[in-house]
Amino acid sequence: MTEPQLIDQYKRNLNYLRVSITDRCNLRCMYCVPRDQIPKLSHKDILRYEEILRIVRLGVSMGISKVRITGGEPLVRKGVYHFLEELSAIDGLQDVSLTTNGVFLKNNLKKIWSAGIRRINVSLDTLKRPKFANITGVDRFDQVWEGILDAECMGFSPLKINVVVLRDINTDELVEFARLSLTHPFHIRFIEHMPIGKSSVSERPVLAPEIKRIISRLGDLKPLPRTSRDGPAERYRFSGAAGEIGLIRPLSQHFCERCNRLRLTASGQLRPCLLSDQIEDLKTPLRKGLLDKDLREIFLKAVQHKPSQHHLVEDDREEPCSQMCAIGG
Ligand code: SAM
Repeated sequence: MTEPQLIDQYKRNLNYLRVSITDRCNLRCMYCVPRDQIPKLSHKDILRYEEILRIVRLGVSMGISKVRITGGEPLVRKGVYHFLEELSAIDGLQDVSLTTNGVFLKNNLKKIWSAGIRRINVSLDTLKRPKFANITGVDRFDQVWEGILDAECMGFSPLKINVVVLRDINTDELVEFARLSLTHPFHIRFIEHMPIGKSSVSERPVLAPEIKRIISRLGDLKPLPRTSRDGPAERYRFSGAAGEIGLIRPLSQHFCERCNRLRLTASGQLRPCLLSDQIEDLKTPLRKGLLDKDLREIFLKAVQHKPSQHHLVEDDREEPCSQMCAIGG
């Protein structure tokens, strides 16, 4: 039997599920999680792995073909490598990837590889050790950098480095980040900082045209043609470079009209838009023993509530109450 597909009222086909498996993180990035915040969710509030796997299987039966595991920091959750293995083995799931801060990458790359994962995004906002400690609250730059280099050696591909651009904090390093793409096959992705949640970053955001202008000092930045596998990044390459540059522009040119994402939070809520607090609870009905067909209805309800676009750049905007670390980015 063919199950109903996840197509919203604006005809967007939602085939990409981002799954946050924990709200806990070993870093306290200044723009993501308030320094004094302690994790709120208790063990019983977090979806168990078998519950996540059931939800993903349901999603796959309705057209989800791509899953990204995120957090909090996914690699801090016990049992994550076995979970990744089970996830990768789900029939019909074509692409499983991981977003991590990289602190635990180095010693666990073999397990991630054995679990069938080849695509990793590492978040890294500075190449300087003291500044890393400043931004994240923890002195772990060396571990992250060694993890990235080892992942490159092992052949993880694409290996994306996510850089949230923060005015006067890392704008002086954008050229250095971009330069990495000349000699390494990395995809360096500059992300416009989204002003959401409580954060200690309140400066005027650095938008993509300014980022482009800064990194163009390195040479001619050639746009790459869009492919069906592309995510939200506008892609570029410096002539002769091993890697590429991506600009992710949630503010200066939002990509809502081609957004194909749904999010599952660690506490079991389906969230059709990162920037809206419109959610559907899946955990309670799942734990009450609802049948697959009833859970599919909840998926469909979430999809119908996906807004046409976010309103983050409007003066009278309504910001989501949730912190990014609770949603998974
Ligand atoms: N711990 C993992 C990590 O560090 O990649 C996964 C969770 S983190 C919330 C996912 C991504 O969201 C990271 O790349 C992070 O830099 C990004 N992020 C967090 N807050 C953001 C904000 N306000 N604007 C733009 N990106 C943000």
